[in-house]
Amino acid sequence: MTNRVAEVSQLRGQMLKASQAIVRAGAISRSGHGNMSIRVPGTDTMLLTSVSNLDGLTADALPLVSFDGKVLDGHLEATSAEIVGMHGVVYERNAQMGAVVHTHAPYATSFAVANQPIECWYEGLARFDLTEAIPVAKYGPRGSRESISNIADVMTERSRAVLLQNHGVLSFECDIMGAVRVLILLEEAAELGIRARTIGEPTLIPLDMAAYARQRAAEFAAQGTMRADGHG
Ligand SMILES: [Zn+2]
Repeated sequence: MTNRVAEVSQLRGQMLKASQAIVRAGAISRSGHGNMSIRVPGTDTMLLTSVSNLDGLTADALPLVSFDGKVLDGHLEATSAEIVGMHGVVYERNAQMGAVVHTHAPYATSFAVANQPIECWYEGLARFDLTEAIPVAKYGPRGSRESISNIADVMTERSRAVLLQNHGVLSFECDIMGAVRVLILLEEAAELGIRARTIGEPTLIPLDMAAYARQRAAEFAAQGTMRADGHG
């Protein structure tokens, strides 16, 4: 196997694990609908789900596709060809991004339906530097030119997710497990936000405290786990 073939095969394996993590966490609608992609490093190509269900995803359903929609290896269903642009726009807008995930996670999608951003009212968001409000990209039919430019319009350098109005969630990160983490954190934050509103208003974490939360997370990660006896 050439290095590139081995690399692509390894990326496909990461996507299968990622889809299982999403289903396990319940960050997906009852239908199991969703799609995801990984950028093949150093290229304008990605591995993209060819089926629109993440539950039970298999490696043969992950064709290699160029950002402009040419299928280079494998088969892409027509319904998935429609969403090439939704993934491609993230990679073109931010060269640091290596993976994109899309589901209709019910709580986060409720914010998209209400046309309301998800804000930093949850420790998990602060810890992973998701302190900016997650914006809502204006509605456009799935895969349409309008829907893609609406995503580009609300993305900034620091964006790690966008809510798609009346539709769902798009999350992205340097790698696929990072994108899954963002999706799950948003679903948790959205659920908490909705529950908090039944008894009051969610309170936001002040920016300086959010920075402190990140700093602590980094310090503990660098230090490793302390054993109960205080060694290592
Ligand atoms: Zn969708």
